[in-house]
Amino acid sequence: MSKIRVYNLAKMLEMSNTEIVDLLTEMGISVKSHMSSIDEEVYQQVEEELKRRKEAEEKKAVEAITTYPVVYISEGASIADVAASVNEKPGAAVKILMAEGHMVPATELADKKILEILGKGLEKHFVFGEPEQKEVVEEKIKGKAVEKEDKQTPSQKGIKKGKKAGEKDPRDLPFRPPIVTVMGHVDHGKTTLLDCIRNTRVTEKEAGGITQHIGASRVEHDGKTLIFLDTPGHEAFTSMRARGAQVTDIAILVVAADDGIKPQTIEAMNHAKAAGVPIIVAVNKIDKPAAKPERVRQQLSDYGLAPEEWGGDTIMVDVGAKTGINIDQLLEMIILVAEMQELKADPNAMPEGTVIEANLDKGKGPVATVIVQNGTLRRGNIIHTDTAWGKIRAMIDDSGQNVDSAGPSMPVEILGLENVPQPGEKFTVIASEREARDIMSHYEFERREMDQSKSKRLTLEELYEKMQTEEVPQLNMVLKTDVQGSLEAFHSSLMKMNRESVTINIVHEGVGRISESDVMLASASNAIIVGFNVRPDSNAKKVSESEGVQVRLYQVIYDMLDDVKAAMEGMLAPELRENTLGTAEIRELFRVPKIGAIAGCRVTEGLIRRNAKVRLIREGVVFWNGELSSLKHFKEDVREIKAGNECGLSFEKFQDFRVGDVIEAYEIVKEKRTLE
Ligand code: GDP
Repeated sequence: MSKIRVYNLAKMLEMSNTEIVDLLTEMGISVKSHMSSIDEEVYQQVEEELKRRKEAEEKKAVEAITTYPVVYISEGASIADVAASVNEKPGAAVKILMAEGHMVPATELADKKILEILGKGLEKHFVFGEPEQKEVVEEKIKGKAVEKEDKQTPSQKGIKKGKKAGEKDPRDLPFRPPIVTVMGHVDHGKTTLLDCIRNTRVTEKEAGGITQHIGASRVEHDGKTLIFLDTPGHEAFTSMRARGAQVTDIAILVVAADDGIKPQTIEAMNHAKAAGVPIIVAVNKIDKPAAKPERVRQQLSDYGLAPEEWGGDTIMVDVGAKTGINIDQLLEMIILVAEMQELKADPNAMPEGTVIEANLDKGKGPVATVIVQNGTLRRGNIIHTDTAWGKIRAMIDDSGQNVDSAGPSMPVEILGLENVPQPGEKFTVIASEREARDIMSHYEFERREMDQSKSKRLTLEELYEKMQTEEVPQLNMVLKTDVQGSLEAFHSSLMKMNRESVTINIVHEGVGRISESDVMLASASNAIIVGFNVRPDSNAKKVSESEGVQVRLYQVIYDMLDDVKAAMEGMLAPELRENTLGTAEIRELFRVPKIGAIAGCRVTEGLIRRNAKVRLIREGVVFWNGELSSLKHFKEDVREIKAGNECGLSFEKFQDFRVGDVIEAYEIVKEKRTLE
């Protein structure tokens, strides 16, 4: 017997996947999702059921007409008028309305909702308008009955008659194309996949049109449009999110089948999860002899992404980006997932969206690529973001064409801004240039205020406060450790500390140095970063300061657990805080008889002090911790030495250093908690 996938069935019956799954469930046929298959026999049952339901509805509608007479009400009639039309007192109508929770005076105008309630209470069908021919009215009422039924069983929506224009039920808004980001480990084929998708299915261009990089591309498949963000990877994705913007609807996680999951695979997965964006896995390089797609599925399952064919809910597609294997299927799955998300937007709403790229072009001035998220953006609109504004002089789409308007999900490059906005900023449209100037000066003021107080994210010290004010406070954390073993120990000890009053949520964890991407993820998720025997690299350090993300570094696991416990109890002791004095890099090694090995260094930042504590960092991981036994400038012993100078260092009971190692000098200071 032949089988059919549920989503194909949905297509055939012109119903959505959710509707068909609901219908099957109501019929007592259990299916896991729209990806499940059913027998042909079941298909026939579904058809019969639909037919039966339709007939039942029609019968009901006709019954309704015969039981409830139709009464015509002119537009603008009051509740009292409605009552009068059937010889009832205004009080009777008000009573009926009150019983349904509507406290309105009898002089109020009757709208559709009120007519409906009154109709039920008075057993009449109230209809706005002049008496029409009986048939027309009956058709109308039938339509209404179908709609009503529709609300009770969503599965019937598929055979619904079109709603009247003017009523803005969100369900009636048109679908907008999904916006897709490609993520994954380096060299697993993100760029190749994007290129492959773009080259073969970029929207039909007019002759002479050239594909232009504007930050996002439109792709057509099966009559549907998809938008792909041009910058692969999760960094851009998360830095936008840290600014409060979420553009992506679906993440494609690319995993090379010959390499399996890697640290950045997990990182990308956690970034998408933290944002609540559904993930579709593209198991790539399937053409390679060493490809082991099943192993990839196994590994991903271990991280909580169970393949849908094994009963999980993550769609995984084997692809070959280089030669274009299975790309159609991948696109089809994206469309499916998008359908389930019911992505909708109102093309007639006030236009708004997000800046995804921006730069200053020598010839064109400030140039920004935006994605419209609601409404329709038009040439001539005046837009503003937090930091920029301007009147749109020209709009260019991804095929290099000038366009006059861009609807929901569409990426366009816009010219005419007065200054360059930041990626991730939201834009809205306003009425006049004067208003724009007013808003900008207001933002300027706010920004100055903000700079003074600096953007602030949660710190461990503030956790207790948060616990007092929030119902289910959550402590979000990004964990980084030197080795896998300590990561596991950390993780399980932390999970044991979960309690009713506060939950610990590990947004991301990994082995190795703390990177900028970790900081951005923490910023976007209002998380603190906890490092065990690892250090932030210099970018991460800078970004953590500007983003106001707390980075706590520990050498002893219990210290960290104690701190979290104390924070939960509001008893976090004055923090012993490390004050970094400076860093030096080992450039040369010397052997001095009797003394041993000396590290020839250059101080790269701050200063190194003879009595400071020091730490030796190798590839971002703390390799050794201790004290100096000597600090020399040329042959002289010195107390301290500043950035830009050379020095010779030797360490207390440690000689195993290498060229390229970084020495970090620090002191411990006690930070008092301020009493407020
Ligand atoms: P990215 O760093 O994730 O963007 O990876 P790239 O797209 O740059 O791809 C890395 C390497 O893998 C390149 O040499 C690609 O040609 C190769 N590659 C990508 N996809 C495939 C594939 O499906 N099959 C094979 N054999 N090689 C691939």
